[in-house]
Amino acid sequence: MPTYDFECEPCAYHIEMVQRHDAPQTHTCPICEQETLKKIYINAPSIIIRGEPTTVAQQAERNTAKMGNYELETKRANDKLNTELSKKQRETRERHRAIVSMTPEQQTHWVKTGERPSV
Ligand SMILES: [Zn+2]
Repeated sequence: MPTYDFECEPCAYHIEMVQRHDAPQTHTCPICEQETLKKIYINAPSIIIRGEPTTVAQQAERNTAKMGNYELETKRANDKLNTELSKKQRETRERHRAIVSMTPEQQTHWVKTGERPSV
């Protein structure tokens, strides 16, 4: 199955999910808790080919690069929140932290089912 990028416009949450091409194009954003997580097309859907070291290595490199960007985005978002903290914003930030600490598989599971992983 192909991998698709999903992004939430209001909060810039980003996740890659493996799903069927005809699966829903929108999901509930785990941060906003709204149907704002939408399929985006940065690149053509990528498929990891097993038994192809070069391809897998490139995929891993790409993932690492994305992770760096994501952490930077998270830091920027936190810096912004720190300037004006309301109760609601603090709750959002806590939720965001919980999401960052999850594995990609847990994040995908949460987005698809709405169930938080039991720690
Ligand atoms: Zn969101």
